[in-house]
Amino acid sequence: MSSSGVPAPIPPARPVIGDAEIEAAVRVLRTGRVVQGPEVAAFEEEFAELVEGRSCVAVNSGTSALQLTLLALGVGGGDEVIVPSFSFAATANAVRLVGAEPVFADIDPRTYCVDPDAVAALVGPRTAAIMPVHLYGHPAALDRLTPVAERHGLALVEDACQAHGAALHARPAGAHGVAGCFSFYPTKNMHALEGGMVTTADPELARTLRLLRNQGMEQPYVNEIVGANMRMTDVNAAVGRVQLARLTEWTERRRANAKRLDALITADAVTTPYVADGARHVYHQYTLRVPERDRFRAELAARGVGSAAYYPTPIHRLAPYSTGDRLPETERAAAEVLSLPVHPGVTDREIEHIADAVDSVAGSL
Ligand SMILES: *Cc1c(COP(=O)(O)O)cnc(C)c1O
Repeated sequence: MSSSGVPAPIPPARPVIGDAEIEAAVRVLRTGRVVQGPEVAAFEEEFAELVEGRSCVAVNSGTSALQLTLLALGVGGGDEVIVPSFSFAATANAVRLVGAEPVFADIDPRTYCVDPDAVAALVGPRTAAIMPVHLYGHPAALDRLTPVAERHGLALVEDACQAHGAALHARPAGAHGVAGCFSFYPTKNMHALEGGMVTTADPELARTLRLLRNQGMEQPYVNEIVGANMRMTDVNAAVGRVQLARLTEWTERRRANAKRLDALITADAVTTPYVADGARHVYHQYTLRVPERDRFRAELAARGVGSAAYYPTPIHRLAPYSTGDRLPETERAAAEVLSLPVHPGVTDREIEHIADAVDSVAGSL
């Protein structure tokens, strides 16, 4: 209850920092071995099980994972990287931070992921890479993007920051492209307080990533190349390991919550999430299209249901980019999407309440 006596709305995200996470962090702090040590190595090894045994390189954020991957691939000044505009700004920021230019492709209005035909149409002489985003936990159309990348000799980098455990045709997110990049920010499907992971089947790329995250060193003070400091701490890794152990259970809970919302929400005015053929959706977000989104959101809040719009402004309309591109599906989605609470902390009764509230608001507009 808040001080006004009205219950706080069901929040759209509820990061878990429980006793197990706290104990793991304290245990590491007491060892005194806190940076890129045994916990990080163990986290990398355990995370590999999620991506068909690919090499995993832990870094300090999802943004760093993307940026370091582009650096390791040699993407830089004069290069273009095709990305969706309908994503978190980090997707395009990583491209700009290495000196390359993001080129924005429109989305498939059903999955909200980048449209492979739009991507193919944007490939030009400067294109170095394609970076699809598995938005909301739904895999991008990798089966159609992979041939585009192969035909033109482009690197396919998966922004899997919202897609831990997602899959397309049984192959996991992060195991399709030359590299997959994950985030462990607190609101993601699992977290490490902060953190990121690059997954790759290419041992040479993995080695370059390891050098780049640590000043270009594998052996102390034997600097082989210019590198950054994007190391993960053992405290972060220890928290990540606790969370990783629960990821399967939490993902099943998200999927079960989504299935019930699918069944219970009946209003014609709202569109529930679409799942493409062969896709395993892990519902980082459960995202509706609704009419009069901002009013809809306020009416839901009045009924005790928190919600959020991801993302109200597409990247190509943000100040550092503002390209003047016309991306009609991206712009329509940005105005219509509304994400409901679907995280593992939502109870069955709350799911019923959320669905009732959605139908009631839709009927009242
Ligand atoms: C969260 C996120 C990122 C960035 O991850 P951080 O760990 O916050 O740096 C990048 N891309 C997408 C799609 C994200 O959701």
